Amino acid sequence: MNCYVCHQKGDTTPAVAICVLCGMALCSDHLIREELPVWKDVHAGMGASRRKLPEAMPRIVCAACHSALHQD
Ligand SMILES: [Zn+2]
Ligand SMILES: [Zn+2]
Repeated sequence: MNCYVCHQKGDTTPAVAICVLCGMALCSDHLIREELPVWKDVHAGMGASRRKLPEAMPRIVCAACHSALHQD
């Protein structure tokens, strides 16, 4: 599979990743790697609180999905 963004520009670049949201194939120039924090619910006595775990979860998205995710 070739990079969809490059394909739209008339280039043929082998894809190295897939956007997890829209499924677009992406080359290394067009992928965006995000780190999502992982939360764990901790039940202590009566209340519950959330604790951020040290390891973030990586995911690969395309530029279009990245801007859609980060709009206000
Ligand atoms: Zn590309
Ligand atoms: Zn996408």
